[in-house]
Amino acid sequence: MIPAAFEYHRPADIASAISLLTELGDDARAIAGGHSLLPMMKLRMASVEHLIDLQDIGELRGIAVEGGRISIGAMVTQNDLIENAALAASAPILREAALQIADPQVRYLGTLGGNVANGDPGNDMPGLMQCLDATFTLVGPDGTRDVAARDFYEAAYMTEREDDELLTRVSFDSPSGGYAYEKQKRKIGDYATAACAVQITREGATCAGAAIAMTNLSDVPVFSEAAGAALAGTACDPEAVKAAVAAALSEIDPTEDNRGPIEFKRHVAGIVIGRAIDRAWSRA
Ligand code: FAD
Repeated sequence: MIPAAFEYHRPADIASAISLLTELGDDARAIAGGHSLLPMMKLRMASVEHLIDLQDIGELRGIAVEGGRISIGAMVTQNDLIENAALAASAPILREAALQIADPQVRYLGTLGGNVANGDPGNDMPGLMQCLDATFTLVGPDGTRDVAARDFYEAAYMTEREDDELLTRVSFDSPSGGYAYEKQKRKIGDYATAACAVQITREGATCAGAAIAMTNLSDVPVFSEAAGAALAGTACDPEAVKAAVAAALSEIDPTEDNRGPIEFKRHVAGIVIGRAIDRAWSRA
């Protein structure tokens, strides 16, 4: 299918992109890798009169791993996340998750910023960023502000970002301990039926803390504080894992679609969450 006609803009810096977004208002949308937006335009589910392409904005690129803090530009691709050695050493959960997104063709163009700004509950990076307690930096006509990933998502395709703001960077502390991104999908290249990100820290034989977030099990990513609390202070034994899974399941709200009915999704979610906890603990 062919999208409706649109005007194409290619600003060279953030300020010019914000000016265009402000001036053109509702008729304009940023385009990053285009692998969520263009399919929507081709299906005529999104109608955009002005596309503001972010490809030439160098300020939106780059991965910095410094002093225990990681900062990633919005235009960093999913493939860049996989190939960056410093990132793989400091936050290996990103590589593990990015490798499970779509296929190499999508990952060469799809960006981290597009994935988290999109607001699609099927995107894998929002839940992961909630697990890592990341911060999203937004720049608009009124300046710059930071929003926690855990506060960013309001409903499917609705986020804290205003239409005239760009998401410019994603930052988080280098995680410590064990990690796992577990994803169940129908086939290679599919979105998750259920997915779960886990980071666990360990002191001796005891879990010192855990962060657990889920993908495509509600209309927004779900960070479950209660699931993490159920593991803290335990040896992540089967009883503790069962309690954490139960706590996580109590916070999801899946809907029936072509990936299955609600009960099936809850069943798959339970298995995925349990596996993610076990693998993260074994690596901690
Ligand atoms: P775009 O499509 O360019 O933009 C998406 C939205 O975000 C648009 O509304 C755009 O205006 C907005 N936007 C983009 N960048 C910014 C910014 N910096 N600031 C403000 N707004 C911005 N994703 C997964 O997570 N998991 C999957 O399993 C998966 N499977 C896929 C399979 C296929 C076949 C395809 C085509 C895509 C799949 N995707 C999947 C989606 C893919 O990862 C997208 O690339 C990603 O979701 C969006 O990134 P993008 O750079 O392509 O964004």
